[in-house]
Amino acid sequence: MTTETIEFQAEARQLLRLMIHSIYSNKDVFLRELISNASDALDKVRLAAYQDKDLGADTSDLHIELVPDTEARTLTVRDNGIGMSRDEVVDLIGTIAKSGTAELLAKLKEAGDAENAQELIGQFGVGFYSSFMVADRVELTTRKAGTGEGVHWSSDGEGSYTIEPVADAPQGTAVTLHLKASDADDQMHDYADRGVLRRIVKTYSDFITWPVRMPAEASADEAADADDAADADEAAGEPETLNSMKALWARSQKDVSDEEYAEFYRHVSHDWQEPLETIRLAAEGTFEYQALLFLPQIAPMDLYMRDARRGVQLYVRRVFIMDDCEALVPEYLRFVKGVVDAADLSLNVSREILQQDRQISAIRRRLVKKVLSTIGTLRDEQPEKYTAFWEQFGRALKEGLLSDPDNRETILGVSSFRSTHDSGNGAATSLAAYKERMHDGQDAIYYMTGDSPAAIEASPHMEAFRDKGYEVLLLTDPIDEVWVDAVEGFDGTAFRSIAKGQVDLQTEEEKEQAEERRSEFAGLCEWMAGVLGEDVKEVRLSSRLTTSAAVLVGDEFDMTPTLEKMYRAMGQEPPKVQRILELNPSHPLVTGLRDAQASGASDELGETAELLHGMALLAEGGELADPSRFVGLLAGRLQRTL
Ligand code: ADP
Ligand code: MG
Repeated sequence: MTTETIEFQAEARQLLRLMIHSIYSNKDVFLRELISNASDALDKVRLAAYQDKDLGADTSDLHIELVPDTEARTLTVRDNGIGMSRDEVVDLIGTIAKSGTAELLAKLKEAGDAENAQELIGQFGVGFYSSFMVADRVELTTRKAGTGEGVHWSSDGEGSYTIEPVADAPQGTAVTLHLKASDADDQMHDYADRGVLRRIVKTYSDFITWPVRMPAEASADEAADADDAADADEAAGEPETLNSMKALWARSQKDVSDEEYAEFYRHVSHDWQEPLETIRLAAEGTFEYQALLFLPQIAPMDLYMRDARRGVQLYVRRVFIMDDCEALVPEYLRFVKGVVDAADLSLNVSREILQQDRQISAIRRRLVKKVLSTIGTLRDEQPEKYTAFWEQFGRALKEGLLSDPDNRETILGVSSFRSTHDSGNGAATSLAAYKERMHDGQDAIYYMTGDSPAAIEASPHMEAFRDKGYEVLLLTDPIDEVWVDAVEGFDGTAFRSIAKGQVDLQTEEEKEQAEERRSEFAGLCEWMAGVLGEDVKEVRLSSRLTTSAAVLVGDEFDMTPTLEKMYRAMGQEPPKVQRILELNPSHPLVTGLRDAQASGASDELGETAELLHGMALLAEGGELADPSRFVGLLAGRLQRTL
């Protein structure tokens, strides 16, 4: 038989090094990870055997077994589940496919100190590799259900592993840990100790729906005589089952502790943290189902990547059917984790069928409503939790404003936005609170999009709004650029950009004055429009400026400068938009230009007009078409002041 030695993938090697040097202080959790993997493998073989009667898998007594050996100082975690082929072992155990690994490793490097590193690794979850926290050698023997030959894998976690075929492996996977000396490390318990194992299973894995067994203890003589654990087993009689196997969602809510929910959450989410919030719902009658859902504390690294998966599993009468059930939750709620157990579905239901299923769509509608109302309740009753949630998942949730028009109003209702009302203290406002603060006669919710709250607040568009005390929402997420165009309003009030169209904040008196001025400046506006030509759509007087001389604004449906930048960042040239130049009739630069122009235009005045336009462009964070010409003109003017 040939033994191959294979290097771990570079990322895997780095993670393993961290595990061996144990940056995670609670070492007991390695067992939870191995049992969780074994449980998944049992779920998979049951389903595979059901869907393919000719598979030849043995599903007669599916279970997990823990075999401690105090003499040899080993612990074996065995399952008779789906197992792995040789290539699967190489792919699944030798590499890390998780998105975000590179980012995690970079952050770990930065984090340096143990506590931060621990938090990061806990966030990421390391699964199988956590065995190297407690073992200096790990062996794995596995045979894929329905195939003839098995594989043996072995590694000390130091860079490479060996792999070789085995003729007579039983179906499923056995992981044997050669335990480190427990007294070398006060965080490490003796994992060959039966009492320790009982306690850990009870704490972390009680709800696992498969039996987790431990062979009965052999007497000292028998153990000494016996060649291996299996013989000792026979001699000693009945194995003991360590977990209660009760599905948490089927138990009455008052009987389940927060710790149990937290452990179950860790099992379904592969997260190492506690959930932020637990959500239960159930329906009786024709469409009977139970759901146990969680909002996580921290967004996974891949939340905004294309391959981000959805976190809800589908069960049918306690039988696991599938992970990542996209028919049950819309994409914008992909961060919700948990389980839905439906009573009346066929066990071999496919993803395609689920998409069409009326019962599933009814469940989905209800889950969405329940998740959104939970977020709303969090905001009302636990504002700190809500804020933490919003920071992590607000951007994802806002995607629903585009993809789920039916729930648009509800999503807006539970959303938060930075605004000029509370700028500075970092808090965000709800739209309902904004509406309560609206001025008499104000008919729109004002907003402006941009790169950062500071950039928006510094923009000239803000001047009149600030002056007159109108609140403006500061929208800085890329998704904001898109939904504001699609969503008409909230609770009967329209959204209006302060950087687009005409602004109507003036009193009657101010309006009359403005009317008079319009004729005073008509000549200037016309002349400037001619000088600037293609660069602008129109030149007009502004009612939104108090201190700046000029500002560029868009027409109602024009693309914003931020959106243009987003196009360019994606490598696309945005369609050219001509913008409107607005002049401040109270600004000395503008009145001066008017008077000079009235007494005769010159090249020099034309350049001043150009400079004014360039300044307006810069003030809104736009890009000059010809920066060197602008700088040249400006330098000329400055020289003359000396
Ligand atoms: P995760 O469980 O988060 O995917 P792990 O590191 O725990 O990450 O496991 C990696 C993969 O190895 C699993 O997704 C699974 O495909 C495979 N695997 C691990 N343990 C077993 C097992 N006991 N039986 C079958 N496959 C397993
Ligand atoms: Mg795992």
